[in-house]
Amino acid sequence: MPITLDLLESSALPTLLRYATIPCLSPAFDASWEANGYIETAIKLLAEWVNSRNLEGAQVRIQRLPGRTPVLVLDVAATKEGLGTVVLYGHMDKQPPLGEWSEGLHPYQPVRRGDRVYARGIADDGYATFAAVLAIEELQKSSAPHARMILLIEASEESGSPDLEAHLDELADSIGRVDLMICLDSGALTYDRLWITTSLRGLVNVEITVHVLERGQHSGSASGVVPSSFRILRQLIDRVEDPVSGEILLAALHATIPEEHLAAAYQVANEFGDVAGAPMPIINGLDLMGSNDAERLLNRTWRPSLSITGMAGIPAPADAGNVLRPFTTAVLSLRLPPTVSSATAAAALQQVLTTNVPSHARVDVEISGADGWLTPKPHEWLSAAMSLASEEFFGNPVGYTGEGGSIPFLASLGQRYPDVQFVATGVLGPHSNAHGIDEMLDLPTTVKVTNCIVTVIAAHAADKRNS
Ligand SMILES: [Zn+2]
Repeated sequence: MPITLDLLESSALPTLLRYATIPCLSPAFDASWEANGYIETAIKLLAEWVNSRNLEGAQVRIQRLPGRTPVLVLDVAATKEGLGTVVLYGHMDKQPPLGEWSEGLHPYQPVRRGDRVYARGIADDGYATFAAVLAIEELQKSSAPHARMILLIEASEESGSPDLEAHLDELADSIGRVDLMICLDSGALTYDRLWITTSLRGLVNVEITVHVLERGQHSGSASGVVPSSFRILRQLIDRVEDPVSGEILLAALHATIPEEHLAAAYQVANEFGDVAGAPMPIINGLDLMGSNDAERLLNRTWRPSLSITGMAGIPAPADAGNVLRPFTTAVLSLRLPPTVSSATAAAALQQVLTTNVPSHARVDVEISGADGWLTPKPHEWLSAAMSLASEEFFGNPVGYTGEGGSIPFLASLGQRYPDVQFVATGVLGPHSNAHGIDEMLDLPTTVKVTNCIVTVIAAHAADKRNS
């Protein structure tokens, strides 16, 4: 019998709602995360819940490394030898609330409306621990053969997973060879089918500061004399991005889009319309980027793009005096095509932002990045299992699409285990608002995705037995 909404509600939801009350922000958003202890509280809560499920042959532990966020590790023995290893992945750290949530909603006070629950981190990616464990439980209940199952729930994903490599190094011997990776931290274009992510964009963050003065000066005496740090910053950014079209101008940040991914985007746009643009809460009358629905989807999944995500050195309007400010800082967040190395992109950006700086202003840049990811072609058994699962639990064919975000874990796993097969999926569909205000988890979708995972794991074991 498949997992039901009732089962999710009775066995997992109460603890998921408690998790939702904990402000366990990712270290990038909580420098004192260790002293604040929210990550600790949350990971203990999850570990206790996993322990309480009494999975057969299971070991639950919290792996700790000095100065790093912990990782929750669940290791469930295979039903017999020779069935290989499946790794399931999710994370428990959260994005900050971002701003005021809508009337009646609160980032840390979960609210249920119909079959949807609103709270920060609930869909990205709090549900993952619960979905993974319920899936394993379901396999055990139905006595289905399964591989050794390892669930990894990390706590630094929203900061770009800076702690993950060290944890994977520590776990490498005990994990050994991995056949299949199931990532439960990805998106869905609709709630009517299982969506499999075929690619993710990479990311480079540049914190750039342009200095022109030792201290601010009366703009009456300095303007027209000392060049504005904002104007110089603007020129430097214009080297990276066409200020009119938004196109990224550096060749090193572009990739050739593979034929099948180009075709897939047009196919998705044909069937579902403007999946990239339609869910955006745009203001009335705004023209979107991209010449059509498919090009917008390609912009989001395969093309580089720039967002300015933070600024400093500029007072709020109410505090704005008539001053020529000494410096301006901006954070340039660049999304990269799946196949562009973030190190290559970082080098190109460093070069273009620090060479021949207008007026010989002083420029400081700090750059960090994470690689994107392109899925290997799925084996026949896996495509068949994903199709079957989507048809059975959603009543629709499985969907394949690229995503615009990044999950550093997939890139690093792909490098560690070159032969591994991937299932990257998730519940982040329209209006799930991961990273925005009013984050939402759709419970029926959660149940269906969990059931699909059960089917995939069972199919993996069946393939192992036959080969
Ligand atoms: Zn996530």
